[in-house]
Amino acid sequence: MSDPIRSHESARASPRASRVETIPVDGEFALCLTHDVDRPYKGVRSLYYATRERPTYHLRTALRSSNPYWQFEELMDLEEELGVRSAFYFLNEQHLLRDRSLSEWFSPSNWIQHLGRYDVTSEEIVEVIRALEAGGWEVGLHGSYHSPDDPDRLTTEKSTLESILEGDVTGGRQHHLRLTVPDTWYYHRRIGLEYDASLGSCTECGFHDGYRPLRPFGDEFVVFPLTIMDQTLPDPGSQPDAARRVCERLLTEAAENDAVMTVLWHPRFFNEREFPGHRELYRWLVERAQELDAWIGPPEELFDAIEREQPSETASESDRPVHTDRRNVLSEIARTGQRTPITNYDGPYQSTEATEPADQVDVVGRPNRCPVRGERRGEP
Ligand SMILES: [Zn+2]
Repeated sequence: MSDPIRSHESARASPRASRVETIPVDGEFALCLTHDVDRPYKGVRSLYYATRERPTYHLRTALRSSNPYWQFEELMDLEEELGVRSAFYFLNEQHLLRDRSLSEWFSPSNWIQHLGRYDVTSEEIVEVIRALEAGGWEVGLHGSYHSPDDPDRLTTEKSTLESILEGDVTGGRQHHLRLTVPDTWYYHRRIGLEYDASLGSCTECGFHDGYRPLRPFGDEFVVFPLTIMDQTLPDPGSQPDAARRVCERLLTEAAENDAVMTVLWHPRFFNEREFPGHRELYRWLVERAQELDAWIGPPEELFDAIEREQPSETASESDRPVHTDRRNVLSEIARTGQRTPITNYDGPYQSTEATEPADQVDVVGRPNRCPVRGERRGEP
């Protein structure tokens, strides 16, 4: 008997891909706030940094008691002050030596990945997850590096998180935006996730994949395209005005097009000493969106509003019938997508110490290499 999760038959039987046509929330547009929890502990990564710059500072911050990447409380306080909530996506990576093959031990990029691994079931992370949930934040899944084509692994990661939450996980995003379209979405839907927020670029910000969420299978499963990943902006420490200009342009574009704009700020970037300018830029972005009368919240809340308003909306008469294989999902994205590359700045900050590139990411027909960075502005 074939494995029902791995079988694509039911995915391909779905006749249409479509878009969410209206955004049923109060406001000129919707701004979804998200945080991928990649590296909450600087820990042993300090040893890696210490060999390169400011050794005494980095060695000192290796101590747990002065962990500069632990930004949960600060971030919650900031969002409480701003009157907004966001989504935190938690990663549950496999242990390199225990869970991965011997051949993977010898890749430098795997070691850099592994140095920052955390245990999502540890007492302090569990406490944070429960505090977030109790405070009205969304807790979602940050599918691990090797999970996009591994439904069994995705199932394990989702159920571990759900056992901590004592409830369902609605959606999330894949680490490094690694997707195989549409297979990963099919696995997400099959294991009970209702949305994904991985569709986007690690190198460019903009509405590359359209202004509205996509329904790749024409059913209730929704994809929220990513508009801004923090590290794709001009460095807000050295070019604060340029970074704001890019955000302003995208906020205005969102307001003019009734768009859903989704942004990703990694929690450790909220440490002002290590990553100057990021926290202030995030505050400015949220306050500017409020001035522009945006609805602001986590994707789960928007998903729920969409489902209430348009329950299990399927394709409208105006949609072309397309079969949901990769090529047709891509053509649907291209048909309704708006490509607006941002070109009026010097380009995103590039770490001078970016190491080996990660594997080629198979996403939406364009090159999308997300380098594995062990450096200042981090990895996706
Ligand atoms: Zn990540």
